[in-house]
Amino acid sequence: MIRFDNVTKRFGSNTVLDSLDFTVYPRKHVTLIGPSGSGKTTILRLLMTLLKPDEGTITVDGELLCHERRDGKLVPAGEKHIREVRKNIGMVFQQFNLFPNMKVLRNITEAPVHVLGLSRDEADERARELLDLVGLGDRCDAYPSQLSGGQQQRVAIARALAMRPKVLLLDEVTSALDPELVVGVLDLLRDIAHTTDITMLCVTHEMNFARDVSDCVMMFDEGKVIEFGHPEKMFNDPEKQRTREFLSAVL
Ligand code: ADP
Ligand code: MG
Repeated sequence: MIRFDNVTKRFGSNTVLDSLDFTVYPRKHVTLIGPSGSGKTTILRLLMTLLKPDEGTITVDGELLCHERRDGKLVPAGEKHIREVRKNIGMVFQQFNLFPNMKVLRNITEAPVHVLGLSRDEADERARELLDLVGLGDRCDAYPSQLSGGQQQRVAIARALAMRPKVLLLDEVTSALDPELVVGVLDLLRDIAHTTDITMLCVTHEMNFARDVSDCVMMFDEGKVIEFGHPEKMFNDPEKQRTREFLSAVL
């Protein structure tokens, strides 16, 4: 579902991703762990096409994300191609990033109407179902500022799901929440992981959550995946010293 082939990303002289290769298979839930500043968010931002790789290719659901083949040659993709491939991908950020001037329902219907071309009624119906799913069926008419952080994050999750993406990217989605609100959001994500076919790539420091939902944990450091494996193995008996050090600092 997701493939990075030899992806390099630099910011000036800072090589953040260094010939990075990894694959996420359909319906799998992969957790990305690693020190702060190691490039985890950059990986997700590349997938959202908020950034472009300097070298290498990214494939999503069999389609190149930032490139197109023309006359057998790989060329930078046009806006239309990027928009099409990106429809498969939803993202939830650490800072919920809701539209502050729109009510909850409208936050969720905006992209389905404008990007997918759903009618208002269809989009409203889809949004109401999702708000029920995330436990906020009665807050359609609230503005984001009238909700708690945990509620806002659940709206952001509903908003991502409203596009029916094949891939859900989660970037430290509970890091900005008060501790007592974390559980509700993680329970919701566990539920989504266990009851849908969605492929998940998630960056988190919540190791219990990672253990519960992940098929695979990838340890990322200095621009490369240095080790990956089943969560039990990764958390209980990692091979690499660097992974052991990191885990002993966060567990
Ligand atoms: P992580 O999510 O693992 O904490 P990031 O992907 O956010 O790491 O950042 C990786 C590195 O890239 C950091 O050194 C950061 O300073 C740098 N970086 C990220 N975004 C930018 C940017 N837009 N411009 C310049 N440097 C950036
Ligand atoms: Mg980050």
